[in-house]
Amino acid sequence: MLAAAVHLEMGAGMARRDVLVVGAGPAGSLAAREIARLGGSVLLVDRAEFPRWKVCGACLSAGALEVLESVGLGEIPGALRAEPLETLVLSAGKRRVRLPLHGARAVSRSAFDRALLDAACESGVEFWSGARAQLGATDLEYRHVHVSRESERVEVRARVVLDATGLGRGLTPARGENGTVRAGSRIGLGAVLSDSTYPVAPGDLHMVVAPAGYVGLVRDESGDLNVAAAVDPSALHGTRPDRVITSILSSCGLEPPRGSVVSAWQGTPALTRSPAEVAGERLFRLGDASGYVEPFTGEGMCWAMSSAVAVAPLALAGADHWEASLTAAWSAHHAAALRTARRLCRVLTPALRRPWLVQGALATLQVVPGLATPFVRRAARPPETSLAYSA
Ligand SMILES: Cc1cc2nc3c(=O)[nH]c(=O)nc-3n(C[C@H](O)[C@H](O)[C@H](O)COP(=O)(O)OP(=O)(O)OC[C@H]3O[C@@H](n4cnc5c(N)ncnc54)[C@H](O)[C@@H]3O)c2cc1C
Repeated sequence: MLAAAVHLEMGAGMARRDVLVVGAGPAGSLAAREIARLGGSVLLVDRAEFPRWKVCGACLSAGALEVLESVGLGEIPGALRAEPLETLVLSAGKRRVRLPLHGARAVSRSAFDRALLDAACESGVEFWSGARAQLGATDLEYRHVHVSRESERVEVRARVVLDATGLGRGLTPARGENGTVRAGSRIGLGAVLSDSTYPVAPGDLHMVVAPAGYVGLVRDESGDLNVAAAVDPSALHGTRPDRVITSILSSCGLEPPRGSVVSAWQGTPALTRSPAEVAGERLFRLGDASGYVEPFTGEGMCWAMSSAVAVAPLALAGADHWEASLTAAWSAHHAAALRTARRLCRVLTPALRRPWLVQGALATLQVVPGLATPFVRRAARPPETSLAYSA
């Protein structure tokens, strides 16, 4: 299952495909696999060389595990020895509360994304690594995409393009076409460290909340410490990412991790954003590229993979015969599927910026921990993946 069929030659000039998927994160790799399994010819490209790490809390929620199971990939977490998570340790100021977690697992993004990519390649997906894509024009039959790798340039003509490029500039080169970033949005920061003595036990997920942001700490399948944070960009002015993390941890009486660096500090663009449109002519956006809130509930991969499963039949229908109703169908599905899931994050986002509120909530949970159960269960549920569309 975890074969290494990754590098393929791009060749030169022009290529035609049913579907081009840009971005080999959980959204892109799973969408490409599902389309290939439905019989489509799929080209998947990513600007990165794999395996690659990315900023993430590394937690597969129970909902994410359910989505994997539903597409026959339920064995991946076990094969990767993903660490089962049993306890959520929430800290703010002097308050700390331990809550039971159900069904989530921790796994490094380098291993997990590589496994999904391998599964896609095994289903017949063609993959170009180190290949950066930029959206071009449409004609009557195709969407054109310019793909470049080092000095090579290829124009890919695809009947349908999936934008699974995650946060950031996406496929659209021009400023102003990438949608909106919410004012005051936090950014992501993360690294993997090999501090075996740091007081985070395997199976514990620590969330440390402070005025400047929050930090998640978890041990991955190798026992390394995955550190991921959402912070106010102003906290980074004139200082280094590790110092921002140190100050958030010390506000709760915790020392900074001291081990050697396994994956170096990385940042993300602003987290809370929405694209100008989730679908356009011969184009669907999915995963973080279709909009993101904040990672506190650890559901991003679940949303990304749910949208991948849902978009596959639509992409195939569009490759066969494009019509404008496909755009409307995806926009409607996307809004309905993620409305409830993202509402929780929207409520939490301003609350997390009020330390007195968080500390008050933790004081209450210290007395009645059961009050957190509905929240933890809700966060674990996957969004609806079925799509009522008939061509
Ligand atoms: C601090 C933090 C903590 C988080 N914690 C969790 C968590 O614990 N659990 C969870 O489920 N989610 C978490 N998330 C969210 C999760 O990381 C994302 O939701 C998830 O990675 C989205 O997957 P994706 O496939 O949409 O995008 P990505 O995983 O970002 O993949 C996008 C891919 O597109 C490629 N790409 C981009 N532009 C181009 C281009 N022009 N050409 C070619 N390739 C391109 C990139 O190289 C990348 O590989 C967290 C996020 C942050 C920031």
